[in-house]
Amino acid sequence: MSTSIDYASLKDRLIIEYAKRKVSIEKKAATTNLHEIQWSFPVIQSIYRQVDCLAPYKDPAALDKALDTIDLAKIYENVERRERENTNPKLKYDDFVVLELLRYFKHDFFTWVNSPSCQCGSPDMVNRGIKRPDSANNPDLVSIIEVYQCRNCNHTVEFPRINNPVSLLRTRKGRCGEWVNCFLLILEALIGEGKDRIRYVWNNEDHVWCEYYSNGLEKWVHLDPCEAVFDEPLLYCENWGKRMSYVIGFNMNTIIDLSQKYITKDKQIDQSDIVDPKKVQKVINFYNVKRLGEYLVKERLTHTENESWKALYTDIIVPRNREHKGLSTDKATPSSDLPTGRQTGSAEWTKARGEDG
Ligand SMILES: [Zn+2]
Repeated sequence: MSTSIDYASLKDRLIIEYAKRKVSIEKKAATTNLHEIQWSFPVIQSIYRQVDCLAPYKDPAALDKALDTIDLAKIYENVERRERENTNPKLKYDDFVVLELLRYFKHDFFTWVNSPSCQCGSPDMVNRGIKRPDSANNPDLVSIIEVYQCRNCNHTVEFPRINNPVSLLRTRKGRCGEWVNCFLLILEALIGEGKDRIRYVWNNEDHVWCEYYSNGLEKWVHLDPCEAVFDEPLLYCENWGKRMSYVIGFNMNTIIDLSQKYITKDKQIDQSDIVDPKKVQKVINFYNVKRLGEYLVKERLTHTENESWKALYTDIIVPRNREHKGLSTDKATPSSDLPTGRQTGSAEWTKARGEDG
């Protein structure tokens, strides 16, 4: 007599059981009462505002527009060259695409703007404050309009801060917000494949950058499009000398506190001076639990109950668990060939921000 065990179905049952238990534990631990969240703190308001910040990068028409706009032939030619010349066996094709996009975006596509130049050709502009956009007619999703006046001819020049990534494919200029916004759209178009592979990274000390999930390197990789920097999470603390309090990542399915990954101990601004880290974790947990529920609802539209739980396990629970284990600046070492101090922006501007190294 022999006992046959169906290991595949046993494994599935264990996965489903684990996923259900995990969701139940997280639901119990997270607050469901929105009044418990301390909305008055700017860090928490920023998290709230950016919860769905990746949605514009999933719009098929926007992704098509991005592919139509960039010089695909040139990018792929350079990707093939990078692949031929590569000596790192861990890097895969997508990694070369990302490396080439960083180069292309900074050197061939987008332009940094400190202040706009005048029609008379003079770059000598005085900041005259900001204006609000017309909220009824704002297809470029302009947040504010910076107003400048030319010292040479007195002409007034406006610099709208655009948030619509598709509009940025046309204007191709701005500061770190515009850079990351437009870069992420092209990145998603090139490597996203509809999966949760891109991440917007927000810093409370007025900088943003991004990450992508590298299948070759098996981790979320830091990218700074403004500086064309790849996988240098200590760039800000070690090279710029920047002091920071909070760094938070937003991807489709997960919000994550990345402060440990990006901030070294000596550059860490005491988080409690800004807002109690427990309050920040509470709001992050709230949205992460909400995402689990939303993901299940979406999966159930096209899959069976068991398939939906298995997808939740593979697509969200496993990646979250894996990443939480590896989050720390301890393992990162800044590369020696990075220049000291921030490369984008004028010398005065970077010095005023404490980013000059
Ligand atoms: Zn002028």
